[in-house]
Order: sequence, then structure tokens, then C-alpha cells
Amino acid sequence: MEIYIKTLGCKLNFAESSAIGKDLIDHGHTLTDDIQLAKVCVVNTCSVTDTADSKDRQFIHHAKKLNPDIKIIVTGCYAQLNAEKILATLPIDMVVGMNEKKDIPALIADLTKPSLHVSPIGKGDVFQPAVSFSDSEIANGSRTRVFLKIQDGCDYFCSYCTIPLARGRSRNASIETIVAEIRNVLANDTKEIILTGVNIGDFGKSTHERFIDLLQAIEQIECEHHFRVRVSSCEPDLLTEEIIDFVATSKHFAPHFHIPLQSGNNEILKLMRRHYSRELFAQRVMYIRQKLPYAFIGVDCMVGVRGETEEHFADYVQFMETLPVSRLHVFPYSERANTKMVGMPLHVVPKKERLSRSKILQTLSAQKYDEFVQNCKGHQATVLWEAKKKNGKMYGFTDNYIQIESDFDATKINRFENITL
Ligand code: SF4
Repeated sequence: MEIYIKTLGCKLNFAESSAIGKDLIDHGHTLTDDIQLAKVCVVNTCSVTDTADSKDRQFIHHAKKLNPDIKIIVTGCYAQLNAEKILATLPIDMVVGMNEKKDIPALIADLTKPSLHVSPIGKGDVFQPAVSFSDSEIANGSRTRVFLKIQDGCDYFCSYCTIPLARGRSRNASIETIVAEIRNVLANDTKEIILTGVNIGDFGKSTHERFIDLLQAIEQIECEHHFRVRVSSCEPDLLTEEIIDFVATSKHFAPHFHIPLQSGNNEILKLMRRHYSRELFAQRVMYIRQKLPYAFIGVDCMVGVRGETEEHFADYVQFMETLPVSRLHVFPYSERANTKMVGMPLHVVPKKERLSRSKILQTLSAQKYDEFVQNCKGHQATVLWEAKKKNGKMYGFTDNYIQIESDFDATKINRFENITL
């Protein structure tokens, strides 16, 4: 059959959709990017915010409008958390849970009547490996960068988050499996690997291995061409000085850190049930700057959680102003069912106020990025050119995650180049 796969949400979802696609092709199906030609549509959903939930629903109605006869299979976090409800309320044919994603090629054979294939998330969760090339890579036929899923699930249970409820407990592939997978993609002339997961600093829980041992094993990989590795994100308390020292002396790991802070006020960090204080976070940032002055430091910032007063927020902004980071990724809080925070008897910050607080941090983020780029002027960096061509220009990212533009030159695609910023 002709199958259309739609992915919403994070890099992990894209990696998993790519794995589902490969399995379907191995079972004799063909993937199409024209939904009107497709017999079946697999929607890999996200549920990190209520906006994400409504985007999932919007796409499903849109798909049915474009192709009324299409059969729709819904999987991903929204499916795992709302299985019965969405089968009862949306024009879909099957709901497939987190642990059942691998069974889609078998389940697709029977779409005669609406069905649920969702087991509860818990101790027996399986780790399903996944690798994906970003859309632009696939569109341009190049294989420059891949997202490699190394870990899934989370044991942290932050009070505002549903991910542990949707993806289960922390588990991972073995170091041996990951190194073998990286050798595979490098043999295909891939130049950059992005290690991805839910809480990848917690890598090793299900195999009794350590994250730093994985990084060192990847560093030892012999390859005829140079390659680069990025760590997609790491919790502040798991980003040890040992890991920062390792990146500072590594020949492969990029000086690029993405660290979820979520709030710059300690009282709010406690309400969020985060695992560190802002002092620890600042200490990590200053240690990175000491060891890697030009490293890119991206920070996740949530605003407007329950109980966040104007005083808390003013203190939060003041703290962010002191930090020499590169960019803030700002998210307005979203009430999530079944989380600890929705049960807390605290005042709810109005949505309008959440958005205005977001704007304040987004403005600060733009300033931080300009300062970061300015500070990097004259610094030696390595850019990896990608195949994407726009208005006669081509693009690539430096090791410290600055996007560079150049006149299009096909001989530079998928090649590293040393430049002065
Ligand atoms: S660390 Fe916290 S915010 Fe991140 S996935 Fe786990 S529970 Fe959610």
C-alpha cells in the first residue's frame, strides 16, 4: 500500500517515524509524500503542550478532508495519553501505543474496524532504536546529519511534565549497539550525528552503563573521514564537569550544549520538582565558559507555571541577564492533565500574562545571541556545508552552532571547511 507518514513534535519522534517508515518498506509498502495518493496515513503525535494536542487533531481532520477514504493510524505521545478518547472522538481507524509502534507493519493488515493497540506504560517498556535524517537532508538526497535515538523515557517526573506518563521509564540502547549504528551511518558518508532521547544524561539505566563511557566509546571510533557529534540536550545535574572536560578535549564532540533550566528562580524550581538550584546551573555555565569560551549554550526556559508571581519572574529575568549563554528557548507553561502541578492549589497565571513573560525572555534571548556572535568574531571555527540551496546560496552550521551562508558550490556539499568567524 501507499503510506503517508506525518510526524509532529521532537527529534525523537522524527527518528521513530523514520524507523516506522523503514519497517513498512521492508514489509513491501511504499512511502508517499502525497496524502491524496495514500491508502493509509500514520500520524506520530506530540503532547508536550495543549497546543501540540490541537495541532495533532487539526492535522487528522485536514488529512480526512484531503482524502476522505484514507485510513488513519495514530501513534506517539498524544495517542498513548488519550487512546480511548481519540478513538471515540476523531475520524481515525487505529490507535497504537508507545510499546506497539514496532508492530505497525503487522497491525496495518487489518484496518477493517476501529481498534486500540495500547499497553500501559510501565516497567516492561521496550527500547526501540531509531535513526533519522532531517527532512531537508532527505529532500536534497544528502546524508550529512542524522538524529540517533540513544535513550527513551524519564524517571524525573517534573511536576509540569507528561513525558514520563507517555514514554515510560528511562531506558537505552547498549554502548555496543550505538557504536555499531554510528559506524553504519559513517560508512554512508554521514558527517554529523546528533545523539537524541528524552533525558539522555540519564543514559545507562537499563544497561548499567555510564553516559561518559558512551561518549568516550564514540570518540574512539576510527573513520576515514572526519565526523562531528552533538549532544541534543542534557539536564544540568547530569552535565558533569567530567563531561564538559571531555568535550573540551574531544576531536569529535561539538562545543554545543543545550541545557534545560526551565526557571531562574529557586522557589519555582522547587515547585517544578527540578533536580538542581540555579546556583548549580550558573556554576555549569561558568565552567563551560572557562573551558570552552566560544561554545554555544542553549537554555530551555519555561514561563508562567502555576504559582509564578511577578516577583518570581522579575528575579528570574535578572538571573538570566547575568548568564553568558547563547540563546534561550522560551516556552509558555501549558496545563497538562495527570501532572502533579495541575493538582497544586496555586494561582494559575493567565495565558495572556504567560505570553507577555515569554516575549520578555525572547527579547533577552535575541540580545544574548547577538552578544555571543559578536564575542566569536575572529574565532576559528569549522562549518559543515549542507545540500540545501536557496537563492543561489548554501548553508552550514559551525561546530559552535552558528549558521553560515555562502555562494552555492556543489563541491562543498557534505564537506567541512575551516573558517574565521
Ligand atoms: S526531565 Fe522533567 S521535563 Fe524533562 S522529560 Fe523528564 S520529567 Fe519531563
